[in-house]
Amino acid sequence: MDVFQKCVDFKRVELAKTTGWYPYYQVLQSGGDHEAIINHVETVMIGSLNYLGLAQDPRVKEAAIQAIEEYGSGSSGSRLLNGTLEVHERLEHRLARFFRKPACQLFSTGFDANQAIIASIIGRHDVIVIDRLDHASIIDGCRLSFGKTIKFDHNDMNDLERILSSLIKPSNALIVVDGVFSMGGDLANLPEIVRLKKKYGCRLMVDDAHGVGTLGINGRGTAEHFGVEEDVDLIMGSLSKAVGSIGGFVVGPEPVINFIRHHARPLIFTVSAPPSAMASALAALDIIESEPWRRNRLWDISTRMRSAFHEMGLNTGPSQSHIIPLVIEDEMTTLMFWRRLLDNGIYANPVVSPAVPPGKSLIRTSYMSTHTEDELDRVVKAVRILVKRMGLAPMSELQEAPELAMSSASL
Ligand code: PMP
Repeated sequence: MDVFQKCVDFKRVELAKTTGWYPYYQVLQSGGDHEAIINHVETVMIGSLNYLGLAQDPRVKEAAIQAIEEYGSGSSGSRLLNGTLEVHERLEHRLARFFRKPACQLFSTGFDANQAIIASIIGRHDVIVIDRLDHASIIDGCRLSFGKTIKFDHNDMNDLERILSSLIKPSNALIVVDGVFSMGGDLANLPEIVRLKKKYGCRLMVDDAHGVGTLGINGRGTAEHFGVEEDVDLIMGSLSKAVGSIGGFVVGPEPVINFIRHHARPLIFTVSAPPSAMASALAALDIIESEPWRRNRLWDISTRMRSAFHEMGLNTGPSQSHIIPLVIEDEMTTLMFWRRLLDNGIYANPVVSPAVPPGKSLIRTSYMSTHTEDELDRVVKAVRILVKRMGLAPMSELQEAPELAMSSASL
């Protein structure tokens, strides 16, 4: 059969578009700030990864502009050959210093970073032990490596110990976990994972894409939050979330970083990230260090939003962070909820199968330290009305509330 036949037969999207519930590839006529212009309408954004608002910070933007003036728009080469500009090196030194680790390697994206790290250091006789809900880039890194991959049940320390205790040579194993899980918003149980790593003598890598800048007193992420930084061998991070740029990195021991630098194919065979992105990340790191109020406000907002959702009877899953899922379960109801939110000026991310198991569909909401009180109030009010209208709350929550009388037609 023609290799393209499956594409011709792929009708799900067209069908969803005719119902008006197709949620993907929405075009923004603005940047991804706490307010965004979507479908030419001003919308409160609760789906952004720009957790500290730094992608719109004038100091960060100015740094990018300066770098374009100095270096041009692209780096025009692989890091291995002609694509290592001074600004790449400066950022690597800065990140190593920030995380108090001996060395750092940058990558063009966080996705590349996970593939590069895992596929280069895991050899034929090694084992990667991963959480079942680890990010897709970790899974793909495992697929690219020659080692054996074993998954443990999500954040289940008994299952992790069962696997580690069954290994013939645990010293050949690398445990890889997300620090903050990107859909559930829960944190890896790092204190216990560190205890097990030490007990069995293996290594530990934390993908802290969502924890860098947002967690820990100094913004050094989930390991700092739990006070276990010294026992995490490799911290991988992304520059595309709280840092407001693009790119990935890993910090850790010098020989490991040196090995990755000379073996990782997604590093060697691709052009390095543009100098503007590196310069804006440098400026953002300064702000992350000097303005802890952003982290504190993010934490306060998240606690407040979680309890508001709980009061409405909503299930926020295991969330412990600025990522708060609203678990709706049924796929069609989730898409309907998403659409009605958007019609009322609020953008959140719908997450359906296969990104989550069937019957576990959710609306992923995430917060920014720059959200205003008024915007947060608008979100709470709209969600409360929708929950009641759509009968999503327990019976006690379904009595007529004053807000219902004021609800807009499209809710
Ligand atoms: N790790 C995790 C946990 C992520 O959520 C993501 C992307 N959202 C990545 C890695 C990939 O990072 P990037 O977007 O910088 O490629």
